[in-house]
Amino acid sequence: MTEIKLDIQPNVLLRDYTTMKVGGKADELVVAHSTVELVQAISYALEHKLPYFILGGGSNVIISDRGFRGLVIKNEAREVLIDEQHSIVQADSGVPSGKVASMAASAGLSGAEYLFGIPGSIGGAVYGNAGLRGHETKDIVKDVVMMLVKDDGKPVIVKKSREWFEYQYRDSLLKQMSRNGDNNQRPVILTVRLQLYPARQEVIMERTREFLGHRRGGTIAGTDQQHAWQPTGLRCAGCIFRNPDPTDPERAAGKLLDMAGVKRMTVGGAAVAKEHANYIYNKNNATAQDLFTLIQQARAKVKAQADVDLALEVELVGEFDE
Ligand SMILES: Cc1cc2nc3c(=O)[nH]c(=O)nc-3n(C[C@H](O)[C@H](O)[C@H](O)COP(=O)(O)OP(=O)(O)OC[C@H]3O[C@@H](n4cnc5c(N)ncnc54)[C@H](O)[C@@H]3O)c2cc1C
Repeated sequence: MTEIKLDIQPNVLLRDYTTMKVGGKADELVVAHSTVELVQAISYALEHKLPYFILGGGSNVIISDRGFRGLVIKNEAREVLIDEQHSIVQADSGVPSGKVASMAASAGLSGAEYLFGIPGSIGGAVYGNAGLRGHETKDIVKDVVMMLVKDDGKPVIVKKSREWFEYQYRDSLLKQMSRNGDNNQRPVILTVRLQLYPARQEVIMERTREFLGHRRGGTIAGTDQQHAWQPTGLRCAGCIFRNPDPTDPERAAGKLLDMAGVKRMTVGGAAVAKEHANYIYNKNNATAQDLFTLIQQARAKVKAQADVDLALEVELVGEFDE
């Protein structure tokens, strides 16, 4: 492998790297501009026995005010290759999801238009099975090249097909491994291959408009129905809780939270959006602890009112006070 000198910076404030705009300092942070640098950064962490954490767009995390003890790797590996003959898009994991969607559209490939509506990186979308309006990342993943850390602490690069990920609604084996494992062994996605299909430009444009329309709100094209409310300009991390049963809109997390009376609740600078109870956001210089406390209070209200234990969709990184 080509020797590259990593630019490792000490004591970097993490709030600037997330959409929620909270979070203390990382002991060290490195920006990886390619998959080679990504591998080198992980190898550096393993060599120095440092916990490490991959940040894509930082759009699905709440990082503790105490920051992260170890190395944060900001993933900016951004190469995209298109195999038009086989309708495959191969993207480095740090490519913004919207860019994957636009490059696929330009190449006359359909199936990735929903990614226009999802902030963050394609690595983050594959990791968490990000989705929008019935479209999920699991439906287009063909295979993924990853770096796994074996039990003896040695890294290994492997290629895994979609089945390996055991995808579920907003969840994957990879996410479970990270949740249950430690920060010295987190699997890291290097590149992903998406299986799309050829379509006429008018069809792709129509579908693109649908998803961009969804993101902007307003009325669904050709109908008088309203799109579901979406946050624009809020310092947030998307939906806080997963829907307990994605097939039952009556038990959507937002609805349960609304019925439990959490709308407009606040803790410090953290608030529940008045438009949608599943959006807890940084309204006014919130701390990560404000957000965490509000999340706990909202969850407790749903438990008391509907006897449902809501699970987090957003990921908490670092330590919080219960
Ligand atoms: C306004 C707004 C709207 C949103 N709407 C939606 C929506 O409609 N649907 C939806 O599903 N989500 C939505 N989200 C949530 C978020 O955009 C997605 O979950 C997104 O896919 C996260 O990608 P990311 O790169 O920002 O991940 P990050 O927040 O950077 O990371 C999230 C997790 O993924 C892991 N990760 C990231 N990259 C890699 C990698 N290369 N290898 C291994 N692990 C990795 C991180 O370590 C972390 O554990 C929304 C967020 C916002 C702010």
